[in-house]
Amino acid sequence: MVQENMEHPFLKYLRSAMIPHIWCPGCGNGIVLNSLVHAIDELQMDLDNLVVVSGIGCIGRTAGYTNTDSFHTTHGRSLAFATGVKLANPELDVVIVSGDGDLFAIGGNHFIHAARRNMGLKVICANNFNYGMTGGQQGPTTPLESLTTTSPHGNIEHPFNLVHLAAASGATYVARWTTLHVRRLTHSIKKVLQKEGFCFIEVISPCPEIFGRYNRMRSGLEMMEWFKKASVVDSFSDPAKAEITPERIVVGEFVDVEKLSYEKLLHEKISKINEKAMEQMS
Ligand code: SF4
Repeated sequence: MVQENMEHPFLKYLRSAMIPHIWCPGCGNGIVLNSLVHAIDELQMDLDNLVVVSGIGCIGRTAGYTNTDSFHTTHGRSLAFATGVKLANPELDVVIVSGDGDLFAIGGNHFIHAARRNMGLKVICANNFNYGMTGGQQGPTTPLESLTTTSPHGNIEHPFNLVHLAAASGATYVARWTTLHVRRLTHSIKKVLQKEGFCFIEVISPCPEIFGRYNRMRSGLEMMEWFKKASVVDSFSDPAKAEITPERIVVGEFVDVEKLSYEKLLHEKISKINEKAMEQMS
C-alpha cells in the first residue's frame, strides 16, 4: 500500500518551492541533476559545506533547484563567481553545473584559466550542442553540418572538443558521459567531489525540443537512441582523438592525475611570507 504524504527521500536536496522545473519533456537536464543528487546522497555530503554555481541557460536552473547555498550567475561568469567563493573559503565544496554555451563561449576564457590554475572547482557541463534557452542558436559545440536556427544550411564552424580543451588546459580529472550512462556519470561525480583540483565532466545531454527538432530527432528517446548507437566507451584514450561526430561519441575517463590545487599553493605561499615577516621582526 502506498503511504500517503510520503516524502521523496531526495526532497531534502531540492528546493521544493522551485518545483515543478521548467525543463521540456525528454530534456537531459533532469538526469544531470538526478546524478548530482545521487552522488551527494551516496557520499552523505554536508549540505552546509556545498555550494552550487550555475550560469545562464536551461541547465543553469540547477543552482535554483538544489537545496544548498547557490548562485545563479550572469552569463559566462559561473567560474569567476565560483573562483571567488573558493578563495573566500577553500574548505567549501564548490560545484559548477552549466551549459556548453555559458562555459565555453562567453565563459571560455574563465574556463581555461581556472583549469590552468588548478582551482579546486568541480565543473559539470551539460552539452546539448546549442543555445536551447534562447531559441536554438549555433554554439561552440554545435557539430559540423548540424542545423540550428542560425545555421539553417548546416554549421560550418568546427566545434570545440571539450575533453581535449579541458585536458590541455590542465584539469586534473576529465571525463565524458552521455545521459544514457547514468551510473558511470554518478560515479564520476562522486569521484570529483572527493578529489583535489580542477575537475571537468562533460555530459552529452539531449535537447529534443530545439536541437533534436532541427536535426530529425524529435523526442528525447530518439536522441538517446543516437547516443546509444554512437557511444564508444574508451577510458584513458587520447582526448585529442575524441571529437564528436554523428557516428562516434567517445565516452569514458580521459584524465585522472594528482596536482596541488591553487588554493593550497596560495595557502603555503602566504604562510611562508608570514613566517619570513615574523623572522625579520624578531
Ligand atoms: S530547450 Fe532544450 S535544453 Fe532547454 S529545457 Fe528544453 S529540451 Fe532542455
